[in-house]
Amino acid sequence: MPEMRKIQEFVEKNNILPKDCLYHTNRTVKNSEKEPKGQMRVLVPKSDGRARAEYICPECGHYAYVEAEWKRPFYVKCEKCSFKISVPKLRDEAKKEMKSKKA
Ligand SMILES: [Zn+2]
Repeated sequence: MPEMRKIQEFVEKNNILPKDCLYHTNRTVKNSEKEPKGQMRVLVPKSDGRARAEYICPECGHYAYVEAEWKRPFYVKCEKCSFKISVPKLRDEAKKEMKSKKA
């Protein structure tokens, strides 16, 4: 599996803390068979508000790093196989958080 390094390097080089981020996530992503085969990391620094996304496509294993306009819902298309890799909506995450707080 290729290594996800680009965003990590960016964070270290610019000394980015959680409070400097509009959004930051690093999660496992599922392919069309619902198997967790890929990974996606998204970082949106407050400084420029642009999304940096790094992914390993769950469908074909392709690794890439892209910069894009930050918008919700956010997704990237695998540049190799066009599989759509998305991050969950804020609302879903909030729900999940509420659930885990209750539990
Ligand atoms: Zn792909």
